[in-house]
Amino acid sequence: MIDPAQLRKDFPALDQQVNGHPLVYLDNAATTQKPLAVINALDHYYRRDNSNVHRGLHELSNRATAAYEHARVRAAQFVNAADADEIVFTRGTTEGLNLIANTWGAVNISAGDEILLTEAEHHSNLIPWQLLAQRAGARLRFVPVRSGADGDTLDLDALEKLLAPPVKLFSFVHVSNTLALVNNAKKFCALARQRGIVSVIDAAQSIGHRPLDVRDLGCDFLSVSGHKMAGPTGIGFLYGRKELLEQLPPWQGGGEMLDSTTYETAKFKPAPHRFEAGTPNIADAIALSAAMDYLDAVGRDAIADHDARLSAYAYEKLGALDFLRILGPKSGRAGLTTFVMSGVHAHDVVEMANIFGIALRGGHHCNQPLMKKLNAPASARASFYLYNTAAEVDRLAETLVKIKQYFTR
Ligand code: PMP
Repeated sequence: MIDPAQLRKDFPALDQQVNGHPLVYLDNAATTQKPLAVINALDHYYRRDNSNVHRGLHELSNRATAAYEHARVRAAQFVNAADADEIVFTRGTTEGLNLIANTWGAVNISAGDEILLTEAEHHSNLIPWQLLAQRAGARLRFVPVRSGADGDTLDLDALEKLLAPPVKLFSFVHVSNTLALVNNAKKFCALARQRGIVSVIDAAQSIGHRPLDVRDLGCDFLSVSGHKMAGPTGIGFLYGRKELLEQLPPWQGGGEMLDSTTYETAKFKPAPHRFEAGTPNIADAIALSAAMDYLDAVGRDAIADHDARLSAYAYEKLGALDFLRILGPKSGRAGLTTFVMSGVHAHDVVEMANIFGIALRGGHHCNQPLMKKLNAPASARASFYLYNTAAEVDRLAETLVKIKQYFTR
């Protein structure tokens, strides 16, 4: 079991007062705080090793190249990829998904084909496919979210039926950033593979919270963001199964991604370098590697266990407040709680919480169509990470009572 009180000491940003109260940071689904190990890695890189990678033959460039390529190896280990060449550095989950839509999609999707998503997708796993479908004349299908006795869950019977030709690709969120729903990614990928359908996992919300093993999951692609896993912003990676990645054309052209070129044509490097045009985000890739070391030192099973406990506690505590409607399933929830306060707009909830030093997020959480479907155009969200405590959940619950009282006076 992890000791969040101890771990908090590694995260300098947590140790501050906001509006005269100790900060309670519950906006981790938007971005997590960074441990000293990550901050120090950035500091060290810029103080000592700063140089461009791959093309230099001098000491600093060699160091930067070694550390950058080590980060790729580290990312491969982190998700148990068979080969470091299956890891493409990106700006984050969004860019990874766009990369697939613009490369795999460009080659494989044409008029009449279908792309299957779920109704719980973040805009970053919706809009790239909308753009692709519009370009190619393809159709998007959606596994419905249904609301019943077990809360808001995915309609798994519908999924079984929809997951069939002419669907060519199934892209789904592993852990929903709004519903706290945890999809059975391994089962979804197995069903897709049986039916000859390519599977893509949006693992933005799961990567920093539980062990992930791409070979065990059986996915074809998996996209993540560094900043949701204690790493820096502006860096993430895409895992792509080698057989698929190798066949894909580049999507951005520039330096670094080619072996040779004339004025007319170019010969591209093999994957993953062919997908990394231009100077990459060297410093942040190296610091992401430090974040992965940190998470592994804490233990990803222990983090998942902490998430589950805190999430169950929050569900119980906030569930006892009869003026809240909590979105998502009733059980098996991930470490976040999204709620609607009756009679109070989510933005007011979030602004008032801030007065008490609590950081929440309010709005549609980049799930606009889903929020509309659930008749909750705006909601507030508390999302947890390894440094959050049950006492912070108590403070949240007490504050929500005060906010409700304030607005009903
Ligand atoms: N998918 C999910 C489920 C997310 O929560 C997010 C971030 N909120 C993203 C994708 C996009 O991540 P990024 O903005 O880091 O690309």
